[in-house]
Amino acid sequence: SKAQLFEKGSKVDITFKDVAGLDEAKVEVMEIVDFLKNPKKYTSLGGKIPKGALLVGPPGTGKTLIAKAMAGEAQVPFFSLSGSDFVEMFVGVGASRVRDLFKQAREKAPCIIFIDEIDAIGRARGKNLMMSNDERENTLNQLLVEMDGFGGESGIIILAATNRPDVLDSALLRPGRFDRQISIDLPDVKGREEIFKVHLKPIKVSQDLDLNKLAEQTPGFAGADIANVCNEAALIAARKGKDSVDFSDFQDAIDRVIGGLEKKNKIIA
Ligand code: ATP
Repeated sequence: SKAQLFEKGSKVDITFKDVAGLDEAKVEVMEIVDFLKNPKKYTSLGGKIPKGALLVGPPGTGKTLIAKAMAGEAQVPFFSLSGSDFVEMFVGVGASRVRDLFKQAREKAPCIIFIDEIDAIGRARGKNLMMSNDERENTLNQLLVEMDGFGGESGIIILAATNRPDVLDSALLRPGRFDRQISIDLPDVKGREEIFKVHLKPIKVSQDLDLNKLAEQTPGFAGADIANVCNEAALIAARKGKDSVDFSDFQDAIDRVIGGLEKKNKIIA
């Protein structure tokens, strides 16, 4: 899913309990949450708090979700923008939006800034097919200027998400910028079961529904696909006039989601 263009320092009520699986990533992001909550604890011995981290992983695995949960846990405002929204912008607009965003963030610090699909602005020179290079570079340069313009003690943490870390301009990855990478991988069978648990909470399911079996039947599914399956299954069962959702409804929903994924892959290929 897409982060909204300029979510402006809104308060977040998502926390780590909404994020299923991703145990290793959670340990790493909790450290960052603690930087936001107790900055003095870390700088007391002369250390510098990191400014940002890159969340790396395939689409729909929960990068936006975990970034929001960090804001929710630290109880700080969440600012976000999506790199892909800069793709068709007029000259100068990208850079000035970045400037505005950081200005607002400085006023509301401590806070989190989340940049979804950073590869759309952060691609190495000559590798972007979408945006005119000059404009993209202006936007990227402004982002680098802003990142260099504050220290970790300012209480601003910048998170950026990508599924293509390999195409990023190396300037973004230098020390003092996005020098930490956190992997947000596709869930394994146990992770999928936990994600099912989260997304089945609002749904009336039959008592004998076997979550482990659902997890086993959904290899390769991202969290977003599982959320989709749960919703589809509830609609399928309701259409049939059932009073709870049973395994066969989930199977139909899984088939439907697999069909959708195959179509999407065909379009990309
Ligand atoms: P994209 O790269 O496509 O933006 P993303 O990695 O940012 O994807 P999210 O937008 O965070 O993915 O995930 C979309 C939705 O999928 C979430 O709002 C949530 O409902 C569900 N989801 C994904 N991963 C998880 C997870 N680990 N636990 C619970 N729900 C998840």
